Amino acid sequence: MRRLDMPKINFKSHYEKCVEGKQEPVRSNLLGCISFLVGKNKKYRAYAKNSSLYRLQKTDPSHIAPAKKNQLKQLYEERMAREGAPGKKIYDRIMTAARACPYCGHGTLFTLDHYLPKGISHFPELSIAPLNLIPACRDCNSNKHVHVPTREEEQYIHPYFEDVDGHNWLAASTHYSTVDELTVTYAVSDTLTDPVLKSRIKKQFKDLKLNYIYSAQAATELVPTYTLLKQRHEDGGVPNVVEYLREQERFRSELSKNDWRAVFYRALLADSRVHAMRWKL
Ligand SMILES: [Zn+2]
Repeated sequence: MRRLDMPKINFKSHYEKCVEGKQEPVRSNLLGCISFLVGKNKKYRAYAKNSSLYRLQKTDPSHIAPAKKNQLKQLYEERMAREGAPGKKIYDRIMTAARACPYCGHGTLFTLDHYLPKGISHFPELSIAPLNLIPACRDCNSNKHVHVPTREEEQYIHPYFEDVDGHNWLAASTHYSTVDELTVTYAVSDTLTDPVLKSRIKKQFKDLKLNYIYSAQAATELVPTYTLLKQRHEDGGVPNVVEYLREQERFRSELSKNDWRAVFYRALLADSRVHAMRWKL
């Protein structure tokens, strides 16, 4: 759940560019509703700023007929996402503005996810709206699926409008098997005091299977960590192990204090069995 810089793209000229070159009468039909769409984009921005996109109304068929809704939805695939399409430069610009998927903070970027879905029964008028397009990894795009929040608590954290890194929202804990094998699991921290924010983060954490993703990463990270800590322990005992863990925690927190690696090292730091190397892989 990482913050991203908002794309600075003029919706009206982007829309006109995407519609230009369409066959008549579709072209005129789509250009005819431009004022309505600009207004809808302004509303989207205003609601998103207040974390209340769940209140954005779907467009009534009296404003945009179902046939036109389908044309609007198709603009994304045909005029923006496709290689050589007039909006592809904007597509690429939005994609390359992130280093990793902002929903999970980990996955490799794969596509642009529609924060509010573009299906004709949802928000086709936002199908190419830059503020509704979030660079995302394949897993998050697929796990998020068609998500239309109807309550404040159901909203995903919007990467262009919200920053939750001021909170330590991610926590990890260590566990041991009967033969001292260590595993690390993740959860949303109990220290979050705002109940709405807590529900939102919990929903996103569960939907996107973040415990599974982070725990799998931690299991891999434990392998080199074990070798390194064993050496540190042999060289200088517990203080040497703790020093290494502190260093890693500080270094990983620079990117984000909720980065799964930062939280991983924080969990190891809090566990005296780890310091004394009373654990196995
Ligand atoms: Zn992701």
